[in-house]
Amino acid sequence: MAQILYTYKDGVYVNLTNRCNCRCTFCVRFQHTGIGDAPTLWHKVNPNWEQVREAVDAFDFHGYRELVFCGYGEPTCALPLLLKTARYVRKTHPELKLRVNTNGLGSLENGHDIVPELASVLDAVSISLNAPNEKDYNAVTRPTFSGAYDAMLAFARECRGKIPDTRMTVVDVLSPEQIEASRKVAESCGIPLRVRNFG
Ligand code: SF4
Repeated sequence: MAQILYTYKDGVYVNLTNRCNCRCTFCVRFQHTGIGDAPTLWHKVNPNWEQVREAVDAFDFHGYRELVFCGYGEPTCALPLLLKTARYVRKTHPELKLRVNTNGLGSLENGHDIVPELASVLDAVSISLNAPNEKDYNAVTRPTFSGAYDAMLAFARECRGKIPDTRMTVVDVLSPEQIEASRKVAESCGIPLRVRNFG
């Protein structure tokens, strides 16, 4: 089975699911089988709660300050498992900050506003804005839902003020003009933009 917890640079991450409702042109999972200390992040079968709990229990978190839900799939596609894992880590490792890196389509995916549930367990959320307008967003992220761009923006606005560290991100493959336009979109949601390195 692929690694459930893996480390990359200075961070530790949870790879809960390979399910995703986008097919981003830049997605790392289409370029590398694994990253960090994980030879592969492709699960043969997505993990269940017992397997995730075992992985958490077996991991030495000494020296880490944050656990990030981010793997080869969209964490909110496994919402019950995400929430259960976050509650468990809160209890067993209260010193860790908890963050989800998400495409922001979790409410659309799950058919209801998931922000209150996320806010009950998370310290931080990082939402992929990816593009400053719907046309470019659809071209880059190739979502399975129509209306994904507006749903992602609505999700971000819901997170603001409910999850203490809410931010939006773009990848630095965008032109400076697109990055500036993206910053304005994030600002219009009242959220800071972070530019992520590609690769
Ligand atoms: S949302 Fe994330 S996991 Fe899904 S295709 Fe895009 S980059 Fe990859």
